[in-house]
Amino acid sequence: MGNRRSFLKKSGLFVAASSLPISVFSIPRKKQKLGVALVGLGYYSTDLLAPALQLTEHCELKGIVTGSPEKVPVWQRKYGIEDHNVYNYENMHTIADNDEIDVVYIVLPNKLHLPYTLIAANAGKHVWCEKPMATTVAECEQMITVCRKNKVQLTIGYRMQHEPVTQTVIGWRESKPYGTIKNIYAEAGFVNRANDPKHWKVNTELGGGAMFDMGVYPLNATRYVTGLEPIAVSATQENTRSHIFDADETTFFNLEFPNGITAECKTTFAQSINTLKVDCEKGWYALSPFQAYSGVRGEASDGRILQPFKGNEQATQMDDDALAILNNTEDKIVVPGMEGLKDIRVVEAIFASAADGGKRITL
Ligand code: NAD
Repeated sequence: MGNRRSFLKKSGLFVAASSLPISVFSIPRKKQKLGVALVGLGYYSTDLLAPALQLTEHCELKGIVTGSPEKVPVWQRKYGIEDHNVYNYENMHTIADNDEIDVVYIVLPNKLHLPYTLIAANAGKHVWCEKPMATTVAECEQMITVCRKNKVQLTIGYRMQHEPVTQTVIGWRESKPYGTIKNIYAEAGFVNRANDPKHWKVNTELGGGAMFDMGVYPLNATRYVTGLEPIAVSATQENTRSHIFDADETTFFNLEFPNGITAECKTTFAQSINTLKVDCEKGWYALSPFQAYSGVRGEASDGRILQPFKGNEQATQMDDDALAILNNTEDKIVVPGMEGLKDIRVVEAIFASAADGGKRITL
């Protein structure tokens, strides 16, 4: 205070300034870091997002929303989360009164993305929501509408679009170093050893199954390397463990894009696969793996190698998304809600085709 007074005295502003309401001097400086609350403390929040938040420049892990009281002291100790920033699903809406939380990150089973996005948006918080955005186009539309109404940003956690090797090949849709794209092969899967048929990831009730979990990656990749939307879809599904998997264990889907571009895609919970190959008029390029947490590596028909990114994918994603909020540049969101919706529009057609014996469905 002494310093400010003497500065104001010297500058001749003392009388006028001291009669100003105190709030003029207490306008908070623009936040440098956003307070993030993770909703759902399962595998992805625990193993990937919380550690990655420690590496971000523009975010801080400030809050948690959980239905598991036993996790609270563990998270509080590990990340210094204060009591007033701990919520459960019943009182999560009161986060509206908490200025320390700017962003609510939904990391829940897929069918719960809609209801908890609505709670967060109606509380006036920006929403980051994990992929897949939701399980139907109608759910996605509702999420977009409610976020718009509350003037909060909505971003989907498709980390690959923030990853530099992926961004290089996305850039090739303009520079076309191998000519125009002809065919794409994209497949992503891992061996899901679930043995409980009630687990949400193998059950349709909460949006489980390989297509929602891993299939959105090859789908999203066909859309980001072409910059185009598919015009027709055909799909089939296979289930070798139907005593466990109520949802799809394996989905094959073929996409037709404008200009005769085709894509052959596969996703599965029965095999470890992870490749994106793009055949072009004058050569090819491939990323393998193309959606791993690290080590995404590219090679091309002319011997070009794209070396893996050394940074942290999730930290990069969250910093990009935080900057769009801090700078109020909604148009710079890398993966806005509409991008998540576009995938789900195709997923709906994939499920419809598979249910109809692989019938070609136009979009
Ligand atoms: P998970 O099952 O490990 O965690 C889900 C959490 O939700 C658990 O803590 C669980 O207690 C909680 N939950 C709350 N209500 C529930 C209910 N009614 N039924 C079941 N669980 C309930 O799942 P996860 O692997 O952490 O996946 C969460 C989300 O993150 C999914 O949308 C998934 O697609 C996404 N994810 C994204 C990536 C990525 O790379 N971007 C990776 C993994 C998962």
